[in-house]
Amino acid sequence: MSFYSRHRHNIQLAAVLLTVLAAVSHRWLPLKTYEITGSKGHTQLNLYSGKGYEYGEEADWVDKDAMKMRCTITPASEKTACGLDIAFYEWPKWENGINLHNYDTVHLDIDYQGSASKIRFYARNFHPDYSNVGDFNSTKYNTINLRTRDLTQPVDVPLSALVVADWWLDQFDIPLAQSHLDFSNITGMGFDFGSPIPYGEHTIHFKKIVFKGHYISSASWYLIIMSIWMLTIVVKTVRRLIYLREKNRRYLQRVSMLEADKNQLQNKAAKFEELSTTDSLTGAYNRFGIDRIITNLFEQRALMLPLTIIIADIDHFKRINDTEGHAVGDKVLSKLGRTILANIRENDFLGRWGGEEFIIICTHTDAQHGFLLAEKLRLLIEGTQFELENSTNSPRLNQQLHPQLHPQLKVTASFGVGEVQAGETFTETFNRADSALYEAKKQGRNCTVLAQHTNV
Ligand code: GH3
Ligand code: MG
Ligand code: MG
Repeated sequence: MSFYSRHRHNIQLAAVLLTVLAAVSHRWLPLKTYEITGSKGHTQLNLYSGKGYEYGEEADWVDKDAMKMRCTITPASEKTACGLDIAFYEWPKWENGINLHNYDTVHLDIDYQGSASKIRFYARNFHPDYSNVGDFNSTKYNTINLRTRDLTQPVDVPLSALVVADWWLDQFDIPLAQSHLDFSNITGMGFDFGSPIPYGEHTIHFKKIVFKGHYISSASWYLIIMSIWMLTIVVKTVRRLIYLREKNRRYLQRVSMLEADKNQLQNKAAKFEELSTTDSLTGAYNRFGIDRIITNLFEQRALMLPLTIIIADIDHFKRINDTEGHAVGDKVLSKLGRTILANIRENDFLGRWGGEEFIIICTHTDAQHGFLLAEKLRLLIEGTQFELENSTNSPRLNQQLHPQLHPQLKVTASFGVGEVQAGETFTETFNRADSALYEAKKQGRNCTVLAQHTNV
């Protein structure tokens, strides 16, 4: 048993827990950051006022490196504008900005001293679909107005909280498809007050401006988790399918092997059955085989009636043995057995009862037809030529028995026939047929005698 199978349930539980953990842990994954300081994260840092850029009286640096600026607005100020502009492009290619698309928030740590209630943050995006290189104002104006009292603590402003300014949508007649927020190519951003700015002095210290975002968005993160599960399920399913196919193949192989074994055993069983019930010399049933048939037939005798028993015994067989030798005797037995077999019906059963004595059980045969069959067989045997080419051909015996047919050996047999009568056992019928055979021998052999009916 593999480690996996032993701990399957624990592993599955652990995988589910791990998935839940992974799903909720997205917020704690390390973030990527983009920080803007006095010296890095931009290509230019400029102040501007109603009079223009870097105009000392209305907008000036307290400490540029620390990004600390001051706006001094008096009734004499022109247009009362003041702000910080952060550029990301290399002049003159001002349409090439930075991609902040994958950032979620901007962290602002701003220290403001002054009487303005709002500070405006904006991020300008260039996209050829709606911007043209000849007009700097055509960059999309993503913006948000922040309350100064919300800036007493550092804040994380979600970029999704910004909006595309109405005046910009209006001025450039932007279609709906292009009116969404866009941070993919930010060429500049900044802070100002909008207008009107209260008179007086405003100091703004940009202590920290940091964009934060996930390396992997939550949607991608969940997609990855789901894909891992899907992949695991697919791999497991494929592996299971392969395993089942292999198992099935082995089962089929085993079944066909067992099938082959079964056929072999059936053949062997049939062979053994034949061997155990057949007399190999004559082809007839042996004593065991014919006994079994007799038992079966007598168990269902009602279906077999009329039933007749014929007993055949070779005449003077001892003499054949004595004169021609045992081997010739065997040959005679063999030929005689096969001759009888070839001349009886399928539902007649030939058995070698012992030595040179045969029994034929004839189903659906009465005494008269049994007698006729016995006579037919007797004449057949009498007419059969038992050749002696492989034996010690003895002219002496042939001359003695059948002098006219020398060198062929003539064999005859005597027959006793008895029909099974109502209520009679096999032994009783057999004894009657055996008596008839004895009578045939007495009458001079090579003849058939029909047994007496007991009730006659
Ligand atoms: P009868 O006409 O009165 O039947 O005379 P018989 O000689 O045929 O009868 P008997 O019972 O005197 O002799 C039977 C002989 O059959 C004796 C035995 O040697 C021979 N015999 C029995 N079984 C076999 C066998 O399997 N092979 C051979 N060759 N001879 C056998
Ligand atoms: Mg005999
Ligand atoms: Mg005999």
